[in-house]
Amino acid sequence: MSDVGRALGVHRVLEPSGVLPQAAWRLDADPAIGSDEVRLALQRLNLDAASFRQLSEACGGDGSAVRAAVLETVRARGKMQNAVTGSGGMLIGVVDAVGPRSPLGLAVGQRVATLVSLTLTPLAITDGLAGWDGRSEQVPARGTAILFARSIAAVLPDDLPDAVSLALLDVCGAPAATARVVERTGARSVVVLGAAGKSGCLSLAAARAAGSTHLTGLVRDDREAVALSATGLADRVLVADATDPLAVAAVVGAPAEVTVVCVDAPGAEHGAVLATSAGGTVVFFSMATSFSAAALGAEGMAADVTMLIGNGYTPGHAALALDLYRATPGVRALIDPRVAA
Ligand code: NAP
Repeated sequence: MSDVGRALGVHRVLEPSGVLPQAAWRLDADPAIGSDEVRLALQRLNLDAASFRQLSEACGGDGSAVRAAVLETVRARGKMQNAVTGSGGMLIGVVDAVGPRSPLGLAVGQRVATLVSLTLTPLAITDGLAGWDGRSEQVPARGTAILFARSIAAVLPDDLPDAVSLALLDVCGAPAATARVVERTGARSVVVLGAAGKSGCLSLAAARAAGSTHLTGLVRDDREAVALSATGLADRVLVADATDPLAVAAVVGAPAEVTVVCVDAPGAEHGAVLATSAGGTVVFFSMATSFSAAALGAEGMAADVTMLIGNGYTPGHAALALDLYRATPGVRALIDPRVAA
């Protein structure tokens, strides 16, 4: 196997052969590590919001059924990848073995968060998720996870609770992508769909810090509108169902130069396109986004917009999200209750 393939974890792919771990159906989650790998002792998984919502809805809100579904996924696939949304999440754990050729610079005993998705991380769960009621995205867990030579992990900061760090690092690609688009385009107007959620409020704060001056946050209901308005993160707070394109267009009014999709439900593609001006950019951070719905919808509306898939990785993304949380009371006001819940 090539050095590149090995660094990306191809040696852990069981089926189908020849694909990268993210695209694999099943990974080898054997806790015995190769010389270039790192093993983590699991402490907590953070299921991605779209995946958790889908599992909860499919199980009718029955936490024990959600727990059983996650356990079965990890048992069958050697990783946590929701078969419907295709998404995963990330985890925190303690480094408990480092291969002599690992280039990650990690040391045994360090507490880290993975910045690569659970969808490509070999995972073995040993406690049956006994400490989890299946009703929250954050999952206390015992077991092991494997990092490859080209994985990324961040040492957990000492000044924040683990649960907060985990929530921030899971969505840290959103504020980084928003900041990058605003800086590159000089956009002054930004609309965020799902603005009172974790990635949404961070994206608003990132857009403001990057120079945008007309920030609109679209939320689901009056309760979220009150909470978002109180933070001052948005200049304008709108209430609409992000999955209803005409309702989104009606409340947004004049389209914005940049739209960031941070809802955790499917069906927000067309509203996002309608909320964006000609020549503008839509960042689809949501894992519930359909590529075909976005592309064909934009075509059908003759909408000349650039559409970006929200890459979970941008250099400096973890530090940016942690710093926005530390520096922005409004971000803390929205994220802390979600983490506590
Ligand atoms: P979150 O904290 O749950 O926020 C989502 C927000 O969207 C919530 O405020 C939610 O309202 C709102 N919402 C849901 N349906 C809506 C609708 N129909 N209309 C208006 N608002 C609606 O989620 P998150 O952790 O920020 O994650 C957001 C998305 O990012 C998810 O799809 C997740 O999969 C994705 N993600 C992407 C990456 C990546 O690398 N691209 C990484 C991590 C996560 P309620 O709370 O009232 O439901």
